[in-house]
Amino acid sequence: MSRVFTSARCQLHAPPYFPERPARLTAALEGAAGAGWEIEECESHPGARAAVLALHSPAYVERFERAAARGDGLLDSADNPLDGGTWDASWAAVSCALAAADWLMAAADRKAFAAVRPPGHHAERDMAMGFCFFANAALAADHLVRVHGCERVAVVDFDVHHGNGSQHLFEERADVLYASVHQAPFYPGTGAADERGRGAGKGTTVNVPLPAGTGDERLREAFEAEVLPALERFAPRALVVSAGFDGWSLDPVGGWDLSDAAYGWLGSRLAAVAAAHCDGRVLSLLEGGYSLEGLRGLTATYLRALAGG
Ligand SMILES: [Zn+2]
Repeated sequence: MSRVFTSARCQLHAPPYFPERPARLTAALEGAAGAGWEIEECESHPGARAAVLALHSPAYVERFERAAARGDGLLDSADNPLDGGTWDASWAAVSCALAAADWLMAAADRKAFAAVRPPGHHAERDMAMGFCFFANAALAADHLVRVHGCERVAVVDFDVHHGNGSQHLFEERADVLYASVHQAPFYPGTGAADERGRGAGKGTTVNVPLPAGTGDERLREAFEAEVLPALERFAPRALVVSAGFDGWSLDPVGGWDLSDAAYGWLGSRLAAVAAAHCDGRVLSLLEGGYSLEGLRGLTATYLRALAGG
């Protein structure tokens, strides 16, 4: 079974002339519908506040709320413009991620896609960053551990940017593996191959930086050499995917050269990992991707492959 979790409230964040825009989500939803996935509109999740406060500092959440209430134009960086809908949209994204996680765990062989914005993988414990306010994918992974009792959760991030927030939130934890392929050197500058986790989390961070111009073959080699073996060793009970589509050749932001087929390959490989270790369960969340045509087509390709079609 496969299902999309989304909310019209995710569209309330709409700063003018900004690349992370409502039309992105519309395009991703069109792609998901094209792949034949059912679409569910989510209400507020009762566990959203607890989930956010489990990973973000109370001081950050208060600062965000005050800035939104005052009508501030930015939070923390020029990449994080605020408008009247940002606060609600950010909570809606978290609610969709948690609802997707709950549905995922209710039966085997489920594939969920949280079609949300703002995205999340750059959001730090204490700071908004890189279009992201709350760390949606990390919050879903942590919810799977805390609420659903998953002993080990893997977060795989194939967005063209490194997910600094996701890495930092989990780098000292042994129960969540974070594995990323990303363009380097590039924003945000983190994600060197020697960042492999700290303390109890040593070895549960996997970074594969790849240069500008990386195409399908280079990505596949990196995934097969580094990411898939790490997933085999870690044997996650649930798989969370930060699905960013900005590594596509025509994306206006990323500098990679991936074709449509690369996203189908990623979907198939991740479905195979889930079949081997996670009773077939995969929760994907929308991160980047700034071409509407790309989002529409690549979301369809990725989800179709993930669902085994
Ligand atoms: Zn990105």
